[in-house]
This record gives sequence, structure tokens and C-alpha cells, in this order.
Amino acid sequence: MKYIDEYRDGRLAKDIARQIAAAVDPARSYYFMEFCGGHTHAISRYGLEDLLPANVRMIHGPGCPVCVLPIGRIDAAIALAMRPEITLCTYGDLMRVPGSNGSSLLKAKAAGADIRMVYSTLDALKIAEAEPNREVVFFAIGFETTTPPTALALRAAIARQLPNFSIFCNHVLTPAAIQNILESPDVRKLGTIKIDGFIGPAHVSTVIGTEPYEFFAEEFQKPVVVAGFEPLDVIQAVLMLVHQVNDGRHEVENQYIRAVTALGNEKAQNEVARFFELRESFEWRGLGEVPYGALRLRPEYAQYDAEKRFSMVTPAAKDNPACECGAILRGVKKPADCKLFGTVCTPDTPMGSCMVSSEGACAAHWTYGRFREKARTQDEGRAVA
Ligand code: SF4
Repeated sequence: MKYIDEYRDGRLAKDIARQIAAAVDPARSYYFMEFCGGHTHAISRYGLEDLLPANVRMIHGPGCPVCVLPIGRIDAAIALAMRPEITLCTYGDLMRVPGSNGSSLLKAKAAGADIRMVYSTLDALKIAEAEPNREVVFFAIGFETTTPPTALALRAAIARQLPNFSIFCNHVLTPAAIQNILESPDVRKLGTIKIDGFIGPAHVSTVIGTEPYEFFAEEFQKPVVVAGFEPLDVIQAVLMLVHQVNDGRHEVENQYIRAVTALGNEKAQNEVARFFELRESFEWRGLGEVPYGALRLRPEYAQYDAEKRFSMVTPAAKDNPACECGAILRGVKKPADCKLFGTVCTPDTPMGSCMVSSEGACAAHWTYGRFREKARTQDEGRAVA
């Protein structure tokens, strides 16, 4: 597979791993957070942590859009979908995310709510066109990557004069969240998170470019390396971060030059700016309220804003107290630290959002990491014996 195999070449990966091992200072540890769930998935799937020296640690960040949606927004979507006039359109992953008291969109659908799984915003538009007597609401989630398609759907809805289409907007912004990881009161209170640098997201950066991370790198003196999703991308980004830390630099570097530029996709940015504006504050699961960490529709598009159109309220709801998703999304704990992991909580019976999407840290660890970790522990045990 052209353009895939080149980035999965095991010999090259081992060569870069040797370079990392030669570059690291044995007298210190290196803690790097991969913000993006796609990187978490790649690290687990290709066993990249096994290639790294013991003093280079990867910390999973909050970059899975399904995982960071707070439970109150799921509850609000369920309440909306239960209204008889509403058809709620949503991506498949969201269907199984637990809401309060064991609820979910899947269970609401089984109870009679008109909830339909779609693959794109345009599918939702088609439903609105085909069924003019239904109020069709698109449950929009995701980072900067998925916001432009939502903007395009809005543009199309306006052009086609669809009066029965609206958007429940939950789009969130990456740079604000990265900043919040380091300076939120919750994180400061926990006090156990040490991060020497970040692997910047891939798809998000194709849209926003590398420039938005400049302020952050300078302000917090943390290097950021934007990287692609293939295993060689990620391990090369780790090497670049090690070099920056060793040199005392805190720059934004771009490993993913085949797709990301400094300024990003300005056409997509303009489309988003036309329809959306910043929310002063928005709750992220695991991070709490993130200032300017999300978008809402501009007031001039209020008729397409489901929150206004249907007077939606977001109930204050608490996560299952046994679920450690919040700490995992902040990078403070790992999936295996959760008592529910692999017992009552599996991908078939998710108790928290991190076990639902394949990009979630718990799901990635369940699929790729748990046996490897067990084998490594046994190997270490044998070596000691
Ligand atoms: S294993 Fe399940 S319950 Fe525990 S943190 Fe992960 S998603 Fe939450």
C-alpha cells in the first residue's frame, strides 16, 4: 500500500528507537502527552511503548471527541430525542456512551425515540429533506476536524431553505484544552501530572495549522511536535521531542509536513468562522470548564441552533463515581488503574466514555495493550527470578 507501508516499516521504527535510546539522558525521565486519540490508538496498536526506553513515558491525553463529551450533554441529547417531533441524527460511537443512571442513546432508541445513526452531516440533511414533517437535529461533536463539515451542512440547509433542520453543537477546540491540561485548578490540585512536551494532533492540525500552538509552547515552555497517525510518525515525533528537551528548546515543530502547514486550511477556517463563535466556557469531561474551549452557532443562525430552538437545558450530571475516565483524560491515571477495567467495563459493556470509541484510552488498551502488559510483567518477573 503506497503511502502506508512506508510509515509502518518495522526496521525503520527500530532504527529510530535506537536513536531515541542513544539520545535520552539516563539521569532523567521524559513525559510526553499525545493529545489525540488517534495517536493513543496508534501507540497501543503498534506497541510503540515497547520500543521506547523505560525513562520515556507516554501519557494519554483527552483527544477523543466522544470521550470528552460531558455526561450532561448526553443526557440533554437523550431528553431531546424523547420528544415526539424530534429525529436525532448522530454518529455511531455516541449511541453507546453512558448517560446518567445507565441511560444511553441506544437505550432511548430501544424505548421508542427516533434516533438515527448517520455517517455524515449530509445524511442528516437528506433525512430533513425527505421528511419535512419531522424536526431533524444533528448531534454535532468533535474537534476542529469535524467542524467544517457541520458548517457545510448549515450552508446547505440555508441554501435549500430547510426549516426543519438544526444542530446540537458540541464542537470543541484543541489549543484551549491543551492549555487547560497544564493550568486548570483540577490538574493543579491533583499535582501528579508531569509533562515535558506534547505530540500535537494530526487531523486537527491539517485544518488549524501549527501556528495556534506557538503561543502555548512559548507561554508554558513546552515543546509541541505535530505528528501523523502512522507508527513511524509517532516514534519520530518522540525523537524530535527528546531532542528539544535535551536542548532546552520549546518550539512547535511539524513532523507531519506531508499534510500540515503553518496556516492550515484557511478555506475551512473561514467557513467555520462564518457560522460559529467561541463559547466563553464549556465543560469537558475530565477537564471541567474550559474557557473558550468550544463553539456555538452565531446568533444570526439561531433558528438552526437546537439549543435555542428547543430551549434545551444541560443538566448537571455526575459520572459513575467508580469510573476513572476523568483522571485518564487528564493523563493522571492509566486504564489499568481503574477497578472496573476488564471486569464490569469492556467495549461490550462500557461504563465510561473512554471504553466506547476505538480512540478512547480504555478501549485502545483493552484491544491492544492488556496482553502485552501482562506478558511484559511476566517477562520482568522471570528476569528477576
Ligand atoms: S475502564 Fe471503564 S469505567 Fe474505568 S475509566 Fe475506563 S471507561 Fe471508565
